[in-house]
Amino acid sequence: MKILVVNAGSSSLKFQLFDARTETVLIKGTYDGIALTGAESSCERKIVMADKTDRDTCTVGDHESAIGDMLETLRIKGAISDRAEIAAVGHRVVHGGERYSATTLIDGTVMSELGKNALLAPLHNPVGIACIEILIHDLPGTRQYAIFDTAFHQTMPEEAYLYGLPYALYKQFGIRKYGFHGTSHKYVSLKAAEILGRNIAELKIVTCHLGNGQSICAVKHGRSVDTSMGFTPLEGLPMGTRSGSFDPEIVFFLMGHGYTAAAIKSIINKESGLLGLSGISSDHRAIEEAMHAGDPNAIRAEKVLANRIICTIGAYAAEMGGLDTVVFTGGIGENSPTLRRDVLENLGLLGINFDDEKNRSRATILTRPDSRVVAMVVPTNEELQIMREARAALSG
Ligand code: ADP
Repeated sequence: MKILVVNAGSSSLKFQLFDARTETVLIKGTYDGIALTGAESSCERKIVMADKTDRDTCTVGDHESAIGDMLETLRIKGAISDRAEIAAVGHRVVHGGERYSATTLIDGTVMSELGKNALLAPLHNPVGIACIEILIHDLPGTRQYAIFDTAFHQTMPEEAYLYGLPYALYKQFGIRKYGFHGTSHKYVSLKAAEILGRNIAELKIVTCHLGNGQSICAVKHGRSVDTSMGFTPLEGLPMGTRSGSFDPEIVFFLMGHGYTAAAIKSIINKESGLLGLSGISSDHRAIEEAMHAGDPNAIRAEKVLANRIICTIGAYAAEMGGLDTVVFTGGIGENSPTLRRDVLENLGLLGINFDDEKNRSRATILTRPDSRVVAMVVPTNEELQIMREARAALSG
């Protein structure tokens, strides 16, 4: 049985075709720099099959032609001989609002509900919805499932998801914390339990997804009980270019100094975080390089990030009434021993007995055998989790 996983971004399309039984990737690919004009233009295409990578530029004018190219590529490369072989498609959908707390078979009602949620995720959902429509058209008879980034966090209790704003704003506009990266937090928390040989139902885990976007999640007994991203993916930790949390009065202060709403939106989304704090780059590798050369701007950015991660892990340990495991994942979490050290060295109070030698040698477990709390690295695999969700839904 073959299951296709599709992740449509505002100007990109990623896909993986799985053999659902063996969980192997038959073929995967990315289209980057998709124009939104519909006019034919070139985009970067990368196709990986059996460890062979083909990169080229191809002519696609929009997501519709990228999907057409993707389906044709599956056939040309021999990953399918007929489109009907694709038993299900799992679509990554950024925002499911409050309505969707689980993987959902897409029908007309769901499509119109997703349209409403597009207001909550203006950058991603409209493209995601368009791609679902195209694939429903191109693969008639194939079951299509929505797997929401927000779904895993729908188990948060009211006291965690409500802001200290008038309750009426929550009722009227749905203003509350939703949280994102749910598929990743779910995958790595399950994997952590597996690595520990423990039942997730008895564990208190903090998962740190640290990439360009960053969020932390408190996973108590397998359920998300708090997370650092909020109403939008801007809240929480400082990210590559996003500010993370700050005092909202700063917005009005800046407006008083002549900044427009558009300028502030750009500052907090595109000019802040690691980039804004360091003035060097949004890319953590560049920050690390500069830090090793003793650049004070890079050191400052790293310290702010580590500080927020430490504070969040501590808060979540308190919120869950204990802590068994801290998990690092995402591009930075998986690859930066420096950041992991800057965080874990400061968490002795929580029962973390950090072992920097293991950390530097890229071991999975980062703590000593006598450590009360186990810290570990678990590479995320959102596509695999999406496939598993679609497979589980398909088999009822
Ligand atoms: P996204 O949120 O876009 O999926 P990723 O999870 O790919 O992002 O993470 C991107 C971040 O990971 C960048 O800041 C990048 O510098 C960092 N990163 C990737 N590889 C390394 C590495 N080997 N060392 C340090 N940082 C790394």
